[in-house]
Amino acid sequence: MKNFVTVLVKKEKINLLNFDRKGLQAFFAEMGEKPFRATLLIKWIYQEGEWDFDRMTNISKSLRAYLKENCCIVAPEIILEQVASDGTRKWVIEMGGGNKVEAVYIPEENRATLCVSSQVGCALACTFCSTAQQGFNRNLTTAEIIGQLIAANHRIGEKGRVTNVVMMGMGEPLLNFDNVVPAMNLMTEDFAFGLSKRRVTISTSGVVPAMYRLQEVCDISMAVSLHAPTDEVRDILVPINQKYPLKELMAACNKYIEKSPRGFITFEYVMLDGINDSDADARALVKLLKSVPSKLNLIPFNPFPNTDYQCSSRRVIERFRDIVYNAGIVTTIRKTRGEDIDAACGQLVGKVQDKSRRIERLQKMGIA
Ligand code: SAH
Repeated sequence: MKNFVTVLVKKEKINLLNFDRKGLQAFFAEMGEKPFRATLLIKWIYQEGEWDFDRMTNISKSLRAYLKENCCIVAPEIILEQVASDGTRKWVIEMGGGNKVEAVYIPEENRATLCVSSQVGCALACTFCSTAQQGFNRNLTTAEIIGQLIAANHRIGEKGRVTNVVMMGMGEPLLNFDNVVPAMNLMTEDFAFGLSKRRVTISTSGVVPAMYRLQEVCDISMAVSLHAPTDEVRDILVPINQKYPLKELMAACNKYIEKSPRGFITFEYVMLDGINDSDADARALVKLLKSVPSKLNLIPFNPFPNTDYQCSSRRVIERFRDIVYNAGIVTTIRKTRGEDIDAACGQLVGKVQDKSRRIERLQKMGIA
């Protein structure tokens, strides 16, 4: 007698948003397809916005059938939007399994910047950042990272288009290297989003080995979250400094800009009252920054619940700026955007949980 065993395994489809062009070419090569077809597919997905395989008319019928059977194109969805009085929009984006991240859209007169997340939560414990208080859950996939840009452009629709991307949302992008790099490639890829490398910035707290690795494969702009001019203070504010101290960080920065399109690193420096904002700090910072072609971006500290830190006064911030600027370093004070919706730097957290519960409650009450 024959033994019929039916194994019901639900085969997971491969999400094509996880591939940059090279990745898709390799995937096609594996199944014996011509690599140039990968470019056709990328154009359909990102330039035409056509995600129905049946309508990709310049792709052979047999390949379309294969893709339909084995692959999918799925981007995450925006589940909540808040619009600040200055036009900044904060989006909560659903990543499945209760995981949510936030992305922030910042429209300005002649550009629109999207602040993208790379992880659910963050494993680093920077003491002045509210994302850190939330802990780390998981890395985002390439599809979930590039999906934030897709979702943003979709939501904005006719009203505009994202022109600049900063990897300054939740998470440490260089600790999710393998998924972040293909996403950055898609942002700058001519056949995908085609953004200039000057307009796509990765921000890191200083994961030194990954900075060297990045330099080998990618030459987008880089921002470094510095926040202190000495190891003593930086060890506390940005604890990864204990592993990769300033000397090593600055050496990695110098190596990176050999290939960087901008030829300088943007250093971010959060202004904390009585912690890192003295005249002596400013002078020490000048000394440090003289070792690397740099621009400095001073960020007024954005408070969040249960923090002991306070923002330096405007007067102190301007004085600090003047000292550094007069020493020849291009220095700006970041305009805080989206403050009234907790969308400012370091304010991206899972307040989400509460909010969604609130919505649930309101729904139960028949209000929302
Ligand atoms: N982990 C990466 C990407 C996050 S970028 C990095 O550290 O660069 C977010 C930026 O906002 C970083 O420069 C971070 O240091 C800064 N930031 C975090 N918390 C902040 C706060 N409460 N106020 C102002 N800036 C903050």
